[in-house]
Amino acid sequence: MSSKSWYMLKIKSVPTRYGLSRNIQTLLQALDKFYTGSIDATELGRLVRLSPKRRSAIADTFSKCADMMKKEPEELKTCIDIIEMCTEILVIADRPVPTQGFPLMRLPVEIRDAIMDLMIDNVFRAKGIKAATKRIACNCPKIERDFFLQTPQMKALPSLLGPTLNREFFRIFFRKKSVRFRCCCEMLDHLKHNEHLIRHVRQIKVHWCGPESAVAFEKLSECPKLEGLALSISKSTLAHLSERTDLMKSYFPLIYRNIRITDVLGLDELLGLRGLQEVSVQHAQTKNANLTVEMDRANLAELLSTLLKQPKEDDMSLGE
Ligand SMILES: [Zn+2]
Repeated sequence: MSSKSWYMLKIKSVPTRYGLSRNIQTLLQALDKFYTGSIDATELGRLVRLSPKRRSAIADTFSKCADMMKKEPEELKTCIDIIEMCTEILVIADRPVPTQGFPLMRLPVEIRDAIMDLMIDNVFRAKGIKAATKRIACNCPKIERDFFLQTPQMKALPSLLGPTLNREFFRIFFRKKSVRFRCCCEMLDHLKHNEHLIRHVRQIKVHWCGPESAVAFEKLSECPKLEGLALSISKSTLAHLSERTDLMKSYFPLIYRNIRITDVLGLDELLGLRGLQEVSVQHAQTKNANLTVEMDRANLAELLSTLLKQPKEDDMSLGE
């Protein structure tokens, strides 16, 4: 083994005998790691640049070695080794930093997917994702608690990746995460403006309310990957009626004195969806759920599960 290694210096108790500072010890250890390949030149350079004290630790070591050579000439060889190691550290650290990044796109797609997977898990811990900042102004009640925290990393990650990787990012992102919307207006707005969402989204949770429910649910049929839909209902779900019910109500006011869930705006469009794997209905606020409301929820869940899980028409014709 070459005498120029941190390991050899340790064996000779050099760090204690020479009184080497912690900073220079770190750098000498890093040089060993550089030679064994566990860190690269960029990382070693970064360690040196991390603090001005690191560079002065190198200068300080030179003078300690010079003193040692004067006092104990038999230490000459060790001193030269240390000086050479320190010089190497400086040479490596001062190499220009390569501006080219890691060629991620040259990796096979499975490995890229695995890397992306890890990045997403690291940055977005929760399974549910709240739709980004609200861009629309509607009067829907905000029942859902705003418990999702958006960290700076979450905001930055998609924009850091560049256009090509961004497509891969969203493909995997929406495969893993379920997207929550506060109302149908918000869902519609995102479906209209986010091409990645409509192409890749698999799980959606939405509070069924607002004047856009019909168009929003119709738009869901354009999401080719959609597998799961979780609806939450509340009193505000009953606030907007379907076009037909609205017309009938103006002529038969008595019949429509009590609003039924079957008259609500968006139900017809929901019933037109096909090919889902999971459909569920929950109360947005459980404390107000009396027996009638709970029956409505259960029956609606049953109805939607039966129809929405049927295969899409294209799939049926393929099977024939
Ligand atoms: Zn709304």
